[in-house]
Amino acid sequence: MILSCENVSLSYDGATVAENINFRVEDGDYLCILGENGSGKTTLIKALLGLKKVAGGSIVFGDGVSPQKIGYLPQKQSFNTDFPACVTEIVRTGFLGSRGFRPYYSSRERERAKEIMESLGISAFAKRSFDELSGGQQKRVLLARALCSAEKLLILDEPTAALDPIVTEELYEITKKLNEEKKISVIMVSHDVAAATKFANRILHIKHEQLFFGSAEEYLKTELAKTYMGGHGRVG
Ligand code: ADP
Repeated sequence: MILSCENVSLSYDGATVAENINFRVEDGDYLCILGENGSGKTTLIKALLGLKKVAGGSIVFGDGVSPQKIGYLPQKQSFNTDFPACVTEIVRTGFLGSRGFRPYYSSRERERAKEIMESLGISAFAKRSFDELSGGQQKRVLLARALCSAEKLLILDEPTAALDPIVTEELYEITKKLNEEKKISVIMVSHDVAAATKFANRILHIKHEQLFFGSAEEYLKTELAKTYMGGHGRVG
């Protein structure tokens, strides 16, 4: 098991935004979290990452899993540096979460960052400034950064928002490959039901409470999926 959410509820200043959340992520799972805007998806992700306390219930992690060892690709990312950071520097900061701040990286970490950059096809712009890259290239750099801390689990919060269809497909393929070949479990927040049910094996649909948790196949048979696909899901 990677993690288990047991009767979790989440709130801001006493106002509940999600409750009765119960699901498990097993080793090798690819879970898509669906739900319209404001349903509590990002808040739930923050709780899994230990950035937000649950208001009730508990999140239990499997052996060797902890929030620090989760690779995280946030929805929005800004870097407040006084100088334009190059791609390699950005990728290596992925190691900082697990061991606190250090001004240097071990040779093992440097080597690992290089391997990850090669596997994601971004070595060619290793020395380029992050700000100069296209949206799709920046997403791959941020994914590489997330992979530096992803030992068993990678969480992606709407990774394809604002990407064109070709780059979107590419990002889905890369994620699927990491899941299948590197055996990294994936949790992805998405609005794209067609892609979610194509790539993920498990679906969690929330709207302030849990509306569905189960296999992608079962989800597709529900009225919920049909309604959601009609209203929100993009096909393709
Ligand atoms: P989603 O990711 O599904 O769009 P969020 O988890 O971002 O939903 O938000 C769920 C609800 O919590 C929304 O009503 C949102 O306005 C509220 N919310 C989100 N962040 C905060 C915050 N920092 N303080 C107060 N309310 C918040």
